[in-house]
Amino acid sequence: MSPHFNAAPSRVLVIGGGVAGCAAAIRFAHRGNEVTLAERASFPREKICGCCLGAAGLRALDAIGLAQSVRDLGVPTERFTGYLQIPRLSPTNTAPRVCASEIHLPIAAGVAIARSVLDTFLVEQARQAGVRPWQPYEAQIVSTDNNKTLVRYRSADGSQKPHDWELTDEFDLVVVATGLSGDFSGSHSIPSSGASNANVNSDGSANPRRWQLPWIQSPHGPFGIAAHLPSQHPLACDWRLDEGEIEMICGDEGYVGLVRLPGGAIDIAAALRTSSQQVRPPSPTERLAALLGSHPGCTDSLGERISDWLRSEARLMTAPPLRRTRWPGRGRVVAIGDCAGYVEPMTGEGMTWGIESGLAVADLWAKPGSQDDFANHWHTRLRALQQKRRILCGSVTRALRSPGLRRAAHFSLTRAPWLAMPITRSLAAGPTFAPTASRMP
Ligand SMILES: Cc1cc2nc3c(=O)[nH]c(=O)nc-3n(C[C@H](O)[C@H](O)[C@H](O)COP(=O)(O)OP(=O)(O)OC[C@H]3O[C@@H](n4cnc5c(N)ncnc54)[C@H](O)[C@@H]3O)c2cc1C
Repeated sequence: MSPHFNAAPSRVLVIGGGVAGCAAAIRFAHRGNEVTLAERASFPREKICGCCLGAAGLRALDAIGLAQSVRDLGVPTERFTGYLQIPRLSPTNTAPRVCASEIHLPIAAGVAIARSVLDTFLVEQARQAGVRPWQPYEAQIVSTDNNKTLVRYRSADGSQKPHDWELTDEFDLVVVATGLSGDFSGSHSIPSSGASNANVNSDGSANPRRWQLPWIQSPHGPFGIAAHLPSQHPLACDWRLDEGEIEMICGDEGYVGLVRLPGGAIDIAAALRTSSQQVRPPSPTERLAALLGSHPGCTDSLGERISDWLRSEARLMTAPPLRRTRWPGRGRVVAIGDCAGYVEPMTGEGMTWGIESGLAVADLWAKPGSQDDFANHWHTRLRALQQKRRILCGSVTRALRSPGLRRAAHFSLTRAPWLAMPITRSLAAGPTFAPTASRMP
């Protein structure tokens, strides 16, 4: 038996087949566990995302042998161009906001890849690693104690009327990777043989309410909105964006990132501020159009065409408020990826953090002595894994919300782009994971 295998295999359920859930499922399988992956959507499916996987994310994927395949499926991202809206110099100037000249920043090479492609690939890799996928199946946690977690499933085949809950099962560990909007909590208790049939707190006391991982900070802050501009659409040619370049426009309303995907489509993903002082705030599409229209290369007519496209044709995807922190574990349930907590997508780290947390949770489970009081061990590990980068990402975002600091950033970064290097380097410097190979036949 290979040294990276657990001494005794455990029954592990991962709920959610996004990047975090798939990375966790594959790593648990590599470590010799019996793994089930429940994903409620049928793949391929699109998902709101800037679609830029950073260097640290690729390094983490390398530890499960998948980085090169993901590189092959995407296009390398090597250049970052930022546009900052800066304050109007005259208070009487009511012209629409326009960004100042571009800033070119050095970045570590990553990859641009559509989520429909990446997530489908990862679920298939999980299957090949020995994971049993339940898809499209929704899973909910019914109860947990310090040894077992009881879960129920139902088919999620898109029928208008939800199916009845069909199955229940017990696991040694449940890893919740349901993203920003996934619901994983059951509202009824179901009798079981091992785990308690009441919803219970981590200390074993009865909790008559719906089972949940509590919020430390409930969702607030900006919300996400995104769309793909198809490659055959005339706007995809007229918007000048080279393959391999990440563009970001940042202003009072929030910020939007653009990248060309393999095949030529452009992914447009924005985080817009929720607060607005206006009596009748413009709609999210109007705000996104205004942000895109403030690009210095966007003429009035191009801006109008983008606005029309967003209003009438674009298939918009939205995400709930992005800033949040969840208590990442109770009993034998732990949360990873966006489900555990998310700052916001300014620095494009979400997928990386999801993948890293997926690998880290499987590694921690394999560590001798960690399975007792696993939720608390996971809390400590997750904080050590991401806290510094989350603070850094939050600070950059907060700073660029201020018009004065945007002006200062534009002034200094156009003259000395290397000033950004400590930040880009820190974000690209994730933890190192030991390689694990797939289970041998
Ligand atoms: C505007 C915007 C731009 C972004 N840009 C970038 C970027 O450029 N780079 C980057 O790295 N990150 C970016 N992110 C962040 C990134 O999208 C997320 O961090 C990442 O998708 C998190 O992965 P995850 O696996 O935790 O969750 P998700 O990818 O959301 O996956 C969760 C999965 O769980 C499934 N699910 C939910 N509930 C259940 C259930 N009860 N049962 C079964 N299945 C369930 C869902 O169907 C889904 O497939 C961006 C985010 C936003 C909002």
